Amino acid sequence: MVLGVGRRHSMRVTAALLALAASVAVKAADYGGPLFDTHLHYNVEAWDRDTGPYPPAEALARMQRNGVKAIIANSRPNAGTHALAAARETRAAGVTVVPFVRLYRNRDDYGNWFRDESIYEMVQTELARGTASGPYRGLGEFHLYDSANANGPVSRKLMVLAEEKKLAVLAHVDDVAIDLLMAHSPSKGQGLRIIWAHTGIGGPPVARVRALLERYPLLMGELSYRPGLTCEGGGLCPEWRALILQYPGRFMVGSDTWVNQRWSAYDEIMGGYRRWLADLPAEVAQRIAWGNAAALFGLR
Ligand SMILES: [Zn+2]
Repeated sequence: MVLGVGRRHSMRVTAALLALAASVAVKAADYGGPLFDTHLHYNVEAWDRDTGPYPPAEALARMQRNGVKAIIANSRPNAGTHALAAARETRAAGVTVVPFVRLYRNRDDYGNWFRDESIYEMVQTELARGTASGPYRGLGEFHLYDSANANGPVSRKLMVLAEEKKLAVLAHVDDVAIDLLMAHSPSKGQGLRIIWAHTGIGGPPVARVRALLERYPLLMGELSYRPGLTCEGGGLCPEWRALILQYPGRFMVGSDTWVNQRWSAYDEIMGGYRRWLADLPAEVAQRIAWGNAAALFGLR
């Protein structure tokens, strides 16, 4: 078969364009802007009053080299948050601490906080005390392994307190518990700011997440450990990309340094975010990485 000159020319152009597209896909730069780590724990085993593996200088060095400019800090016990809030290294690294009251003094509190009056008292004491980086801005992270415990007496009281004091709530719960927690707020969920840790670590379907975002105007999704979020090569899966583009003001990223292994993997975790953030339009990537949380807590 003999091709006409015009046809051969257009095939060459097509081949050149395909090669160009492939090289662009390979070279797409990772997101390079600031990050707001909205799910950071500085638990006792990480630092242990400076004898642990990640004393403040180490923890702050990890944030600094990853372009993390602000953190939601919450720690078991709250001493870790106080330490970060007061540390000279925090200011030197240019990291803003947004403190949340952790509901746990120790591991026993994970399974009991929702009915333990002494937790409510501890929250009141912490709120009155504040931190060296200013007043607490939220409650949590807390866990509900059984969603029905959202109906516990202390859980109910804390949702009322959070809405009245305009405190955000960082909740590691399932989708059923989101409805229950919202129902306990005075506005029935219209005025309560819940940051949904992992946006559901059990991986409820995207359609269910979308329905909850529609129902509760202040609900935000934090994306660490989110099943189904990333696909081949660490890029965003198509249905998550569509959801984020539909709700660009409602998602945030976090490290969830719940065990020391997460501190040792901090570079990879943040690098993973930078990779898939590059799959979004630059303006949306900036909001997920930084802007949404910065707006929430009044940072510039
Ligand atoms: Zn966590």
